[in-house]
Formats: sequence, C-alpha cells, structure tokens
Amino acid sequence: MLEIEHLLPKVEKPARYVGGEYNAVVKDWDRAAVKVAFAFPDVYEVGMSHLGLQILYHVVNSREDALMERVFAPWTDMEGLMREEGIPLFSLESRRPVRDFDILAFTLQYELSFSNVLNMLDLGGIPLRAADRREGMPLVIAGGPCAFNPEPLADFLDAVFLGEAEDGFGELIEVCRQARAAGVDRQGLLRALAQVPGVYVPSFYRVAYDSAGRVREITPADESAPERVVKRVVDDLDRVPYPTRPLVPSTAVVHDRAVLEVFRGCSRGCRFCQAGMIYRPVRERDPERLLEQADEILRHTGYGELSLASLSTTDYSAIRPLVEKLVERYAGERVGLALPSTRVDAFAVDLARLIQKVRKSSLTFAPEAGTQRLRNVINKQVTEEDLLATARAAFEAGWLRIKLYFMLGLPTETLEDVEGINLLARRVLAVGDETGVPKGRLSITTSVSTFVPKAHTPFQWEPFLYLGEVRERQAYLKRRLKGRGLVFHWHDPEASFLEAVFSRGDRRLGAALERAWQLGARLDGWREHFRPDLWRQAFADVGLAPEDYAYRRYAYEDILPWGHLDAGVGKRFLALEHKRALAGETTADCRAGRCTGCGLCPALEVEPRLPQRVAIDAAH
Ligand code: SF4
Repeated sequence: MLEIEHLLPKVEKPARYVGGEYNAVVKDWDRAAVKVAFAFPDVYEVGMSHLGLQILYHVVNSREDALMERVFAPWTDMEGLMREEGIPLFSLESRRPVRDFDILAFTLQYELSFSNVLNMLDLGGIPLRAADRREGMPLVIAGGPCAFNPEPLADFLDAVFLGEAEDGFGELIEVCRQARAAGVDRQGLLRALAQVPGVYVPSFYRVAYDSAGRVREITPADESAPERVVKRVVDDLDRVPYPTRPLVPSTAVVHDRAVLEVFRGCSRGCRFCQAGMIYRPVRERDPERLLEQADEILRHTGYGELSLASLSTTDYSAIRPLVEKLVERYAGERVGLALPSTRVDAFAVDLARLIQKVRKSSLTFAPEAGTQRLRNVINKQVTEEDLLATARAAFEAGWLRIKLYFMLGLPTETLEDVEGINLLARRVLAVGDETGVPKGRLSITTSVSTFVPKAHTPFQWEPFLYLGEVRERQAYLKRRLKGRGLVFHWHDPEASFLEAVFSRGDRRLGAALERAWQLGARLDGWREHFRPDLWRQAFADVGLAPEDYAYRRYAYEDILPWGHLDAGVGKRFLALEHKRALAGETTADCRAGRCTGCGLCPALEVEPRLPQRVAIDAAH
C-alpha cells in the first residue's frame, strides 16, 4: 500500500484520494485472477456521480475470479506532489499502483477528458502508446459514449469496448483469465479479445489517407479483426445485475444521491443527440423490481434522496404509478425524489408537483431551438403552445423560476431562429406575469450551449458553426436577453470547438493530443484549466489544422473515421434522417411498436421493451 498520508494535509480535497467509502469493496488481491482498475479521467467528484462506474464495479466485484478498484484523475495540487515524490497513480481501494493491475479500464464520457487519459497513463508509469507496452503491463481499454469514435485515442488504447458492458465485460475478463492461464502473450491476448463481440482493437486496423489527409480506407490488418465491430446491447435490463449497494462518497460530489435507472435508451429521435442513437432501443425495467431496488438501495446507503435516472425519465411507461408508489412509501421517511429530466408538457409538471411538495427549486425545460422550423429540423417535437402551457401549469403550481436550454449553431440556423430564443424566453416571462407570479421573484434563465456534431447521429455530416459566428450570435442574445426577470447563460465556444474537433476526429489527432498534453493540457473540462492557446500551439507543432476537423462538412459517400464501428443504427437511416432534417420533416418516436426503421432491432436481434405499456395508458 502506497504511503500518501503526508501529502493529504497539503491538498485541497484529501477525501478524493483516500477511498474507504461505505460499500467500497476491498477484495483479496491474491485470490483474484483478473484485477481491473476502473479509471475515470476526471476528478473524484465527477467520477463518483457516474452510474456506469457503480454498475461495472458491482458487475466485476460480484465475480469470484476478478476484482475492480477505482482510480480518478488527481487535481493539479495532488499531481504536483505525486510527481515531486515519484508516487505513481494508485487505486483507492488497495492503494496499489495502477500498473500492477491486469486491466486499466477508462470510461470516455466527454472528449475534453482525453488529455486526462494520457496524463493518468503517464502518472501510472504506463507507456502512452499501446505499441510501447511490454508483456506484464496492464491492458489499457476504454468504453463509454466517446468510445463510439475512439480514433483520436487509437494509438493509446489496446482495446475499446463498444456498448453496454454488463454481459460483454465478463467475457472480456474471461478471455484475459484464460490467456493468462495458458501463458498467451500480449499480441495473442489482443487477438483473442478481437474475437469478443463489441471489442475493437485499434492496432489491428490500417487507416489510409488521401492527399488532403482525409480517411480513404479502413481495413483490418490482422486476421482476427472483423470488418466491423458491432456494439453490445443488453436485451433485458431486468436480467442483469444492478448495484443496490452503491458506493457512498465520503465527500460532496456532483450528484450525491441514490440512483434508480428506470430505463435505458431513448427513441424520441432528436437528430443532434448521440445518446439517443447509440443507446437504442428503449428498454424499461419492471416497476415492481424498481420498487424492490429502491428499498434495497436506500437501506444500504442511508441516502435521503432517490433520483429516477434515464435519458428522459418522464417517458417511462409506468412513471406515474411508480412515482405515486415511491412518494407513498417514503413520505414518512423523509426521502425526496428527483426527476433529472423533465419533458415539456403538463404531465411532467404534474409529476414534478407530486414529488416536490415544497416548490423550492426551478423547473428546467429544453426546447433546444427558438423557432418551430428549427425544432422540426432537429426533430424536437415540442411546440411553442406546449412550452407556454407547461410554463403556465408550472407557475400556477407555485414555481417561480424556469430554466430553458437551447443550442446555438444548429444546422440551418438563421438569425430569426436566434431571435426566436429571445422571443420564447420573453413569452414564458409574460405567462409568469399573467399568472400573477410576484414581479421581483419571477425568473426565466436562458442557457445556451453550442451544437457539436457527433458521430453516429443524423448530424454527423454537418460542420460546427464558425467560432466567430457563434460569438456573434451569443453577443446578440446577450444584448437581447436583458431586463427584469431575464437571466442569460452561455458557454465558452472554444471548449465546444475542441470537442467538435475530437468528436469527429481521426487517428492523426493522437499526435496533437500527445503534444497538447506535453505542453501541459489536462483537466480541459474545467474552465480554470482549459488553455485554448496551448491547444492551438499543439496543433501547429504537429502540422494539423483543427478547423479542418471542426468545420468539415462530410458527404454521404465519404469514409467516416468511425465507419468501421457499428452502433446499430444504420447509415442509410441516419442519411435519411439528415435529409428529412434539411427538408424540415419530423420523424415519430418509435416507442410502442411504431418502428421508424432505424435498423437497430433486426441487426442486433433485440426489441424495445415496454412491459408496462398498459400501465402508461391507464396512468395518463
Ligand atoms: S429498429 Fe425500429 S423499434 Fe428498433 S430502435 Fe430502431 S426505430 Fe426503434
């Protein structure tokens, strides 16, 4: 066990590094055949709020033959001390160096964490490049949403896992265990892993570029590598384990509450949304099972708040009966409920009213675009009437503050759409006035992010809006959204620009990433650490223009850098959706049998699971 106690008084938040949380699992090191370190490439507070960590931790530690421990990116103060004293990156549970593990498994939740991956490898004493790793060194793998285009990290990863890990990660562990028992070398292990469905070994693919530096061809370069790697999907969530003894952080984290995952996937089909495409189809959990899990989680954690998580929780078929039951069951025990995502309709307000007896916070809605025309383009099926009626219901129910989320720079956006954001916010404000909300207390916050085109979505062919133009549109809204009751928030477009470079990037970006890390890039997701100047220097040093990536408009026939990775939704469907978007046509939600032909279910042999369809109809 590494000695770090003397460092703790010198760092900002020592609890980030000590482990020992309630429900942490410390297994006998010598009895586990396969040892996995789950690496979250951001700080403790962010990583510990991540449900995927809790799920995988439970899945692996439930196995007899394996153990999983956790490691997070250290904050700069701790990193400095560790480097000064030569202390390698270590796991929280047994405080062992990460290089002692068999597998170092990163989750890639956002592109701006990529420099942290490199920093963590370096701090762990593991060669950055997969080609430089020797026998006995950990296998460095990655999963999560950004693993659907892992190409910028291709040189640094031994393997990538595509999709949901509950079943597949066990197979991966099994392959590692057998390879070790048989004395198979590193290359042999990678060959065996390449045969596991959902596992992608980047070094087994050759990428050829044309004279302009664009991908011309991607071909398997090893006979074990399939032409296409298809994501893994769990057919029935009630069949796989769920962590009912989750880790309880010992310091404040971003989301500190019990989490019940009510369903996975979202079929609304918003055309900018990567999660909505890569996590298809919708699979709901059984409400009776959810009630049991809620009981167990609360009993094993002592949490006073239970969050119902999913991409769009109010869409759960049995949401009303489930919420009613939970409210009834826990009212006496002072357990609060949280619905993190709220649909724009009166039903959602009704639900919020049910769970928030005291209207202490604001309600948040995401119309995403300011005009009906643009909402049709992005397939966000919310009308202005819906939003105003929802706002009215919220004000009448006692809420005083409403937050509205929008995106700037969506494909086809014009100044009229930008002005539409201002008009919509003002109309919501007017509804607040009409319903008699006291003037000094009524507040409408408009939050505007910048659209980033993502791989595997209908907008994957679209460019990121020119930075100068983004700034002008932000400045326009800043001027317009002023006055009583109006608050305007916006995000730094430079960070979104870098996200856009990497979200559709290819392997050549690995050199820029490594150079940026050498120059000092890390914790890029944190405003106080993000250094666009340093990134520009890195791109210049390696002879790449980030603009070529961010502003590129792809043609349908172009080879996409992630073209050999299959998220299940067909390219033909994505292209059709893109054409429909440009024509302003919408596509219906594929819930409950109204298949819109994305191709995923037949290709992956799964079906949407809506066991409580009857309950929803009764509940509405
Ligand atoms: S194949 Fe049909 S039902 Fe399945 S996710 Fe796609 S659109 Fe929905």
